Amino acid sequence: MTPYRYTSAAAVLAALALVSSGLSATSAKPSSTPVPILMYHVIADPPRDAPYPELYVSERDFAGQMRWLARHGYRAVTQRQVWNHWHRGAALPPKPVVISFDDGYRSVVDAAWPHLQRQSWPGVLNLTVKNLHVSGGLSQYNVRRLLADGWELASHTLTHPDLPSLDASALTREVSRSRSVLRAKFGVPVDFFCYPAGRYDARVIRAVRRAGYLGATTTVDGLARPAHPYELRRVRVSGSDGVSGLAEKLQSYRLSGS
Ligand SMILES: [Zn+2]
Repeated sequence: MTPYRYTSAAAVLAALALVSSGLSATSAKPSSTPVPILMYHVIADPPRDAPYPELYVSERDFAGQMRWLARHGYRAVTQRQVWNHWHRGAALPPKPVVISFDDGYRSVVDAAWPHLQRQSWPGVLNLTVKNLHVSGGLSQYNVRRLLADGWELASHTLTHPDLPSLDASALTREVSRSRSVLRAKFGVPVDFFCYPAGRYDARVIRAVRRAGYLGATTTVDGLARPAHPYELRRVRVSGSDGVSGLAEKLQSYRLSGS
């Protein structure tokens, strides 16, 4: 084989590899691929008197859900990675998924993190600043360990208020000050916001934009899309879903494209 022919064969193989790996993963152009952002709260069995038992997913179910995702080709990414893919054409795995945790419960470190570590996957922590100082909440040390492991930190306000009902100065404080507090405390970018209880309106979105966030997540069910950066939909994972419930939700979104 001449050097020339060898080179052209290598070029053909490289081109084939590019095609088979999925053009969306290697494209340098902005993309509009919708991405599922899973929404979790507490990873534990609900106490008998829990007011919102559906916010609890047992560790056993969570572990099963992570195994199911891995077996079916999903790979966890951060919201920043998704944003870079959408707007800058950065690479994403063929089946990306974001795994987000709201509020900042201690069980995120104790019961969720080990199962993400097993896959070398990052999570996204939507942290309410006041939860750093309550029992059952994450400590600053806990948060630092997650961040050192590649997790993304997002703001879920200072005190988890009902944002649309706040006056202008309280709204700015909750949205903007929470970002600067988290950045100063942990020394990482805080590029995304998560609306407490999914409550927002046009005025709240303006405040989030003004504070410099790139996007914000809601509790509206569906896939996240770049056309609505401040109304990113999520896939709620409830305590009664189990592995099959999550699988059904993801498959129905993939089929319906919603
Ligand atoms: Zn919350």
